Amino acid sequence: MGILEEMAVFFDPEDLIAEFEAMTRDAERVQKETLKRILEENGGTEYLKKWGLLGKTDQESFKACIPLVTHEDLEPYINRIVDGDDSPILTGKPITTISLSSGTTRGMPKFVPFNDELMESTMQIYKTSYSFRNREFPVGNGKCLQFIYGSRQFKTKGGLAAGTATTNVYRNPLFKKTMKAMQTPCCSPDEVIFGPDFHQSLYCHLLCGLILREEVQVISSTFAHSIVHAFRTFEQFWEELCTDIREGVLSSRISVPSIRTAMSKLLKPNPELADLIYKKCQGLSNWYGLIPELFPNTRYIYGIMTGSMEPYLTKLRHYAGVLPLLSADYGSSEGWIGANVNPKLPPESATFAVLPNIGYFEFIPLHQTLDGLEAKPVGLTEVKVGEDYEVVVTSFAGLYRYRLGDVVKVKGFHNSTPELQFICRRNLLLTINIDKNTEKDLQLAVEAASQVLAENMLEVVDFTSRVDSSTEPGHYVIFWEMSGDASDDILEQCCNCLDKSFLDAGYVSSRKVKAIGALELRIVKRGTFHKILDHYVGLGAAVSQFKTPRCVGPSNTRVLQILCNNVVKSYFSTAF
Ligand code: AMP
Repeated sequence: MGILEEMAVFFDPEDLIAEFEAMTRDAERVQKETLKRILEENGGTEYLKKWGLLGKTDQESFKACIPLVTHEDLEPYINRIVDGDDSPILTGKPITTISLSSGTTRGMPKFVPFNDELMESTMQIYKTSYSFRNREFPVGNGKCLQFIYGSRQFKTKGGLAAGTATTNVYRNPLFKKTMKAMQTPCCSPDEVIFGPDFHQSLYCHLLCGLILREEVQVISSTFAHSIVHAFRTFEQFWEELCTDIREGVLSSRISVPSIRTAMSKLLKPNPELADLIYKKCQGLSNWYGLIPELFPNTRYIYGIMTGSMEPYLTKLRHYAGVLPLLSADYGSSEGWIGANVNPKLPPESATFAVLPNIGYFEFIPLHQTLDGLEAKPVGLTEVKVGEDYEVVVTSFAGLYRYRLGDVVKVKGFHNSTPELQFICRRNLLLTINIDKNTEKDLQLAVEAASQVLAENMLEVVDFTSRVDSSTEPGHYVIFWEMSGDASDDILEQCCNCLDKSFLDAGYVSSRKVKAIGALELRIVKRGTFHKILDHYVGLGAAVSQFKTPRCVGPSNTRVLQILCNNVVKSYFSTAF
């Protein structure tokens, strides 16, 4: 990298904070200008012309002309881009890269446009939260053990590069330079990050971290699930990892030649290190505090820990011991939204300050109007503290008034930009008749029921759900993978507790009059959720972006099949 390029990414965290403060003090004006820039750059597109915007760039005309849309509405346009039509369809400049969003909710990845502007805003978000984090938790020149994985990249029919958003980011040279500017480059070589088999990559990430154990200052991943997954894997393979370090020879389990070559440059026989790690592992009780034992100079653990990642926090805290958990920013393949500028808050109360210059944001209030209609969206600076909203994004990458489908709560303001708490995906997870239960409701029910397990030193490794309408009446089915065996008695208690913990009035009343049948708890074999992860990875999803689907719809036949084929026991609630 030339010195000029290096200087271009170098930044002073205090300057960055000053810019952020200035921008958020003036959020309303910045939003107006951001919309103007987006519409100036893209005014000539087929999409904006179709809606008769006629080159106007003000908020009022924009809202009057352009409808609120979902991904489905934009699919015909996106598909043409994917198929190689490079006329200005959604963006003035042609889109050359496509992101595959995780699509865990509907079982299939969906395509969204990716471009340089998205890459830049990603780095802006990373740098902003880093600057605030660095004030409270400074890191020196060290390394970051990053459990990140590039997914398969391929060319679309129309010749565009397609990969998951995280892969598009990791592959971009700006990413590496920014990580370097943040003083914590990744421990692992590219061959490991972009290896074709994530099991092998994960093994080598662990090995690289162990070799550089003294230098590791941060442990991170995009979503916290990957960190928990990594250390669960460590529990399985630690002895083999020690052998590799002792002998300086990579396990034969690693078969990808490029990974073997890259790792052979790092791996030298080191019996002292192997003995040390071995002893540390043997000295731990049930792996509590594993991370600081292995990596003594770690300052914190970093990754998205909110929303569907919350269920992994107990396990993560167990591995982390005394180390702080710092929740990462809020965004999506469609674009970034907010940075965590209060890194000291525990993940359960983490908030995200919206960056007013990376997109134009609107918020649909979740409460209905008096006539029962959906309320009109409000602007970024018009939201009210304590209220819940669905996020609507207008981006530099061709999305206009796009409903992201996420529900957020406004917790406060940072200057004049709101600080959002992520609540859940808007689509209902579980509903049979008048009952309405979201991902969050399911999570709370599982949390309550797993208390019963905790008393017995057991935990829920992962979970999901479905509505079974093949019975009359229909009922909820909850699938659990557990860390060990529990007695029938305990599981019956858990099942009743789950049923009682859905507090939604529609559910409770329907259960009472038997309009919804008894909740069913199905226990699946160990490793079932790994199979689900493998299935999504096979579809082109990235491990880095993986979120366990918390509800499996009837169209998601393969995942349903995996679950149903692995059920070992099932229980029906007797709570009502
Ligand atoms: P993807 O489309 O795979 O990029 O996933 C994006 C989705 O992940 C968002 O729409 C959110 O539902 C979820 N997500 C992203 N960041 C966070 C966060 N910080 N907290 C909770 N959920 C998040």
